[in-house]
Amino acid sequence: MANLETLGWDPATVGELDHRLLAAPTVKLRSATTGPGGDVVYCIDLRLRRPNSGECLPMDTLHSLEHFLLEGFRRLLPENFISVGVMGCQTGFYLILLNEGRAPLICDVLATLLGDLAQAQEVPYARVDQCGNHRNHDLAGAQRIARDMIEKKSSWLNVI
Ligand SMILES: [Zn+2]
Repeated sequence: MANLETLGWDPATVGELDHRLLAAPTVKLRSATTGPGGDVVYCIDLRLRRPNSGECLPMDTLHSLEHFLLEGFRRLLPENFISVGVMGCQTGFYLILLNEGRAPLICDVLATLLGDLAQAQEVPYARVDQCGNHRNHDLAGAQRIARDMIEKKSSWLNVI
């Protein structure tokens, strides 16, 4: 198992925490699972809103952010990206990476992706042949969230 501290995570915050303590926006390691061959699957919580704060994100904004995260992580970490999905509580995303668990690198990639998002003219993969609810998007809303997150990057790893 990789040394989580060396990778830039505070070991005390890895795993499930009391959701009343969670800060946002943050990048938090949920788990690191080593397979029999030595590959490691990293599950990372991208938390955009504090849980139960009355600030959960509208579904169209989350949906557009999800498309940008999918496009961006796939493009910037092609060897490592497995998947990204919306949290049902509408406060963030689950990111899954293979063999890339360095916290500063993941934060830099996320910042690059959000910078691209802030300049984008359209939501990726949002045509009717690519998306299951292609009218349910909000580019301007996603861009507001991206700009706000970029401003707060210095505290993304302070998860509580
Ligand atoms: Zn979609």
